[in-house]
Amino acid sequence: MVSLDSKLGPVVGKDSATKLHKAFGMETVGDLLAHYPRRYIDLEQSESLSDLEPGQYVTFVARVVDVKNFSLRSNPRRTRTQVRFTDGRTTLTATFFNQSWLVKSIKPDSLQLFAGVVGEYRGQPQLTHPVMKKLPDGGSLTDVESGYARGIIPVYSATSTIASWELENAVATVLAVLDPPDDPLPVDVREARGWPDLDTALRHIHQPTSRSQWWNAQQRLRFDEAFVLQTIFARRRRAFDDEPAVARPRVPGGLVDRFVDRLPFVLTDGQQMVIHAITRDLERSHPMHRLLQGEVGSGKTVVALIAMLRVVENGGQAVLLAPTEVLAAQHYRSITTQLGDLAKGGMLGGAEGATRVRLLTGSMGAKARKEALLDIVSGEAGIVVGTHALLQDTVEFADLGLVVVDEQHRFGVEQRAALVDRAAVAPHVLVMTATPIPRTVAMTVFGDLETSTLQELPAGRQQIQTTVVPVAEHPAWLDRAWERVREEVAQGRQVYIVTTRIGGDDDDAKKDTESQESNQPRPVALLDVVELLRDGPLQGLRLGTLHGRMPTDEKDAAMAAFAAGDLDVLVATTVIEVGVDVPNATMMVILDADRFGLSQLHQLRGRVGRGGHPGLCLLVTSVVGDTLARERLDAVASTTDGFRIAEFDIELRREGDVLGARQSGHRSSLKLLSVVAHDKVIAEARDVAMKVVADDPELASLPALRDAVLRLEETQQAEYLERT
Ligand code: ADP
Ligand code: MG
Repeated sequence: MVSLDSKLGPVVGKDSATKLHKAFGMETVGDLLAHYPRRYIDLEQSESLSDLEPGQYVTFVARVVDVKNFSLRSNPRRTRTQVRFTDGRTTLTATFFNQSWLVKSIKPDSLQLFAGVVGEYRGQPQLTHPVMKKLPDGGSLTDVESGYARGIIPVYSATSTIASWELENAVATVLAVLDPPDDPLPVDVREARGWPDLDTALRHIHQPTSRSQWWNAQQRLRFDEAFVLQTIFARRRRAFDDEPAVARPRVPGGLVDRFVDRLPFVLTDGQQMVIHAITRDLERSHPMHRLLQGEVGSGKTVVALIAMLRVVENGGQAVLLAPTEVLAAQHYRSITTQLGDLAKGGMLGGAEGATRVRLLTGSMGAKARKEALLDIVSGEAGIVVGTHALLQDTVEFADLGLVVVDEQHRFGVEQRAALVDRAAVAPHVLVMTATPIPRTVAMTVFGDLETSTLQELPAGRQQIQTTVVPVAEHPAWLDRAWERVREEVAQGRQVYIVTTRIGGDDDDAKKDTESQESNQPRPVALLDVVELLRDGPLQGLRLGTLHGRMPTDEKDAAMAAFAAGDLDVLVATTVIEVGVDVPNATMMVILDADRFGLSQLHQLRGRVGRGGHPGLCLLVTSVVGDTLARERLDAVASTTDGFRIAEFDIELRREGDVLGARQSGHRSSLKLLSVVAHDKVIAEARDVAMKVVADDPELASLPALRDAVLRLEETQQAEYLERT
């Protein structure tokens, strides 16, 4: 009995199994069969040779024109064999050294399958020592034995140790003995779509005899990938609904009402809608799991604060987790200021029913920490602000009712679980991100969360003008940029200057050598820039620095000084990337902007133009001749729509990064599904999964689906454990 779980060794032989394991990490028959062809060669429609790129590993079919031997001028005893081949339009050559016998074995006019890395010789693409395999001649294409009788040849992602047809052979060996596997997809679902069952689908995707066969098989197997994932999410959402939580309903005249009354601005319609949704969530005695995504500066914090106050006015506690200490400190300051006497619980001048806000970060002194912890365990502090590191700590809460996670879209399901586990009763959870996530990605990564989106910016928010400054082409523009900084400061405003690296003796030497090797100019270091500017173009201005190697108290002091207007210019690394809010800052100069991700640039520039004055962002780059880099920067400069930028960014990245999966090691469970391109598939799979789980939560009637779900959950769990 050969199943998808059978080990490969006994089926394909020990040597092949070892090779497959080494090259692709395959262990089971299922692993091999999930290595789907990358594409297919249709023998009826030969591939074009006119667009082979040097460096590519290619597999294609071509007809041999002629084969000739030459002796090498440098060493007449050595030979070079040149095979010319054509696809009918383009003729190229393959070169072999010291294989003169090939002249006899490769016949002109024969069809050959070629595989190898494309090289270049005298400006022409060519192959050196490709692997070749003769295809049956025209007449014998009907020969069933050949395997190519089908007319469609699968092409697999191959490596230098395993050629595409070796994979093809291994797959054929496996398919010959495979017993039909259980199907995870409900029969009615696949029949309604005209899809084959799993067994047929696997055969058709690997050994199609027509285009429609692999097409249908691919559709179905792609749906499977989305379906298993969405079944996991559907089950999780169901589990949340079964879990108890403490309801935190509205308290008329309570903290929320009093806070909203004194807000210096009107909440946007979007904010009100989200607050309404959260209020309804919190009224239920099941935990809220909501994702709030919003454009940079859309005002997520005040929404979160209202949610926190709702819990506090019900006698509970809320914690706000920020990704960096700088951001935690800023949240703490701004929340305390905004609450005013509402945050002075038990203190002189505190309002009635007032609470207390406490900051808790990893680098706090022992005494301050002890005080904070005491307030937290006693319930004295209604609101706790801290870094994500707080998760690792054993902080005891009197009554933790809500966890807000700010600016973290990678915050994993398991990390949420870890936090929730600590509370006796599950707290409500609100995750906030300003990195806009395309809908499908949200469905795939946060499929177990309800999603709210804040699209509009508060009224009166100023435009940010973004300009690319290519200093290699226009050195004078940089001088002009520094002049602009002076003008901005002369008008009483403030400026950020952002660098990619800090500099100083212990700066990563490796990165420096790397960039020297790659011929790109070395990125400017913060410490060097500060010195240059202070003694040069920005002489006389009040310059401050902010970077990750500064002690926490110095970081806080720098940030506070900038916020208070005691500094004109803050030269910083990306520690200011998320959430920093200084309304008087109107200009940002980003040095080596080409080194940043697009969404990161969008985040960065979101720090300016937050007050009543328009923002200006200069993207300085010194790359020469890299058109893609310029295109990326131009894209950021051309739009302020974070969602479009995110989509553009994701297109340029690998799927794995989108899913937050690790770069190496584990193979992604998604082979055919692209979270960017296949939004309809994902949405449909989500609907089907919800119905299936509603009817049969334990998946008793679909054991194969149940197994797939458990297997995927297990790998996710394993990856999480490795990460922590
Ligand atoms: P983000 O969503 O990027 O976290 P913030 O919550 O930091 O944005 O809000 C940015 C700024 O906008 C803050 O100074 C905040 O006080 C202000 N703000 C929030 N909501 C409104 C509103 N409805 N009208 C005017 N300003 C607002
Ligand atoms: Mg924010």
